[in-house]
Amino acid sequence: MAWKTLDDMDLNGKRVLVRVDINVPMEDGVVTDLTRISRIADTVYDIQDAGGKVILMAHYGRPKGKVVEEMSLIHIAPFVAEELGVPVTFADSDYRDAVKEMEDDEVLLLENLRFNPGEEANDPEFAKRLASLCDVYVNDAFSASHRAHASTEAIAKLRPSCAGRLMEEELSALEAALGKPKRPVVAVVGGAKVSTKLDLLGNLVGKVDHLVIGGGMANTFLAAQGINVGKSLCEHDLADTAREILAKAEAAGCEIILPRDIVVAREFKAGAASETVAPDACPADAMILDAGPATVAYIEAVLANAKTLIWNGPLGAFEIEPFDKATNAAALAAAKLTKAKKLISVAGGGDTVAALNQAGASADFTYISTAGGAFLEWMEGKELPGVAALNI
Ligand code: ADP
Ligand code: MG
Repeated sequence: MAWKTLDDMDLNGKRVLVRVDINVPMEDGVVTDLTRISRIADTVYDIQDAGGKVILMAHYGRPKGKVVEEMSLIHIAPFVAEELGVPVTFADSDYRDAVKEMEDDEVLLLENLRFNPGEEANDPEFAKRLASLCDVYVNDAFSASHRAHASTEAIAKLRPSCAGRLMEEELSALEAALGKPKRPVVAVVGGAKVSTKLDLLGNLVGKVDHLVIGGGMANTFLAAQGINVGKSLCEHDLADTAREILAKAEAAGCEIILPRDIVVAREFKAGAASETVAPDACPADAMILDAGPATVAYIEAVLANAKTLIWNGPLGAFEIEPFDKATNAAALAAAKLTKAKKLISVAGGGDTVAALNQAGASADFTYISTAGGAFLEWMEGKELPGVAALNI
């Protein structure tokens, strides 16, 4: 994969149409988390510094091809202006006139792309209409690039195109973690269920040197080896699949790391009485809710020898104490090694981001992706249409 960046483009005097993700949470008319808006700042400023005019386009919510007033980006425009410190004009339909009237330092925000059914249909006519507004197309929405939509895929072929700063940062981090990583590479995959992460496990065993399997999905692997997991969350019907993944890992020379000790409890609630036992000693009336200290010590030793870490999914039921211990300890160990420049660490996934924040480890990770579905599809080894369309 190779893509152009803003530095490769002639932007002076050009109209630059930028696909961004500003699908921010909103309550009672107020944006409650501005992160997604603040992250497009560098792209906007760099285009303006290079003499280009910035036109932003984005989706908001799921209006499914119809105009839904509450999902209009007009409600978001003032927050973009405030957060970026630039004048923002909103265009609800007469895009051409609005573009003609733009001042140099002004940012134009187009109406919610998904009000038009052509967006999600990747309709070439809709893409042409968007392309007619600009000289250069920039994709800065990695998190929307796992879908072939008019604003992420079709349009990229109609104009000179490149990655924005945020996209550039995300792609570089992901390339460093799985594209051409420094070895040894460790992957940590946890979370609730194997069934949601089959493609991910299948891809990783062929690419990484050590694969830590934790969380509820580790129970499925233990059960597949004939171990009784009591009342634990476990997908018994996936025993064959789990054994296939173990065999594939063995053939590929990938070490699978399963829990070496487990934390069990009879209740799934904060402060529940718990004990640490061997992986094959879960009482029949108990659940496995976390990995124990021996597992954490082993993970820490593997991380200490590794050069790259890629992480998706917590090692236990981290939302309730004390079952956050293994996740917190492993996260802090990775953060410390990263800070000491011994490890490149990349993580992503909704609950993973929450878990790493809760552990106080996020700031020291090399990169934390907030791209959700797009991050997971990339970890599964799938081609992302919006990224592929930028390929040169
Ligand atoms: P992500 O959103 O980062 O991709 P997942 O959604 O796959 O992560 O997994 C997160 C969920 O897995 C959490 O809600 C956590 O409580 C749950 N989980 C982890 N370990 C266990 C376990 N041993 N038993 C039950 N649930 C677990
Ligand atoms: Mg989740």
